[in-house]
Amino acid sequence: MLIINYSLTYLLKMQKKISDIIVSPPKIVRSAFSSFTWELPNEQNKIYLTFDDGPTPHQSLWIIKTLKQFNAKATFFCVGNNVEKYPQIYNQFTEDNHSVGNHTFNHLNGFKTNYTDYINNFIKADKIIDSKLFRPPYGRIKKSQAKEILNSKRIIMWNVLSLDYNNKISPQQCFENIKRHTKSGSIIVFHDNQKAEKNMKYALQKTLEYYSDKNYIFEKINN
Ligand SMILES: [Zn+2]
Repeated sequence: MLIINYSLTYLLKMQKKISDIIVSPPKIVRSAFSSFTWELPNEQNKIYLTFDDGPTPHQSLWIIKTLKQFNAKATFFCVGNNVEKYPQIYNQFTEDNHSVGNHTFNHLNGFKTNYTDYINNFIKADKIIDSKLFRPPYGRIKKSQAKEILNSKRIIMWNVLSLDYNNKISPQQCFENIKRHTKSGSIIVFHDNQKAEKNMKYALQKTLEYYSDKNYIFEKINN
């Protein structure tokens, strides 16, 4: 019985550890990719909210409105194809003084895409997204692809992944993930896509309330 109890505790601990690793990439991963930006440490209680996959009519507009209520600035990593579909929403990001970044034209997975196709897709997005920032979709990019992109962009990763897109996670758990790992200088990832909507709306609202109460400010990543 004791052994069963012990192994159950061990398994639960392991599970928590694994989920922590997914939410916040460990040092070993970050140092293997030290030319990427994982966080922006500072003493001024600044947090960097980022949103991937927009612009989208329902989610992005709700985010813009909600950020405004807290006087919060953020960074939107846009998919070129969506920018073409919703140019007015894309323009609203910059009109509201948020930052934008390149997230490829067709949301390509770098591991599954050859060098030329990946770079061409990045260039296609670069023609319509005016930014010095890039984030690889799924966080998956080969060294050769990254090396080329780093010639002209900063590659912005994160140290807090909200997992808002994971429908096995409740909105409350999603906010708990954020609370457990966020500190001054954190780069937090949300998604302005339909799959993440329920978790994102709850967790974003809570994050804005919780950290505003603690006198944190929300800044964009300078382009
Ligand atoms: Zn994405």
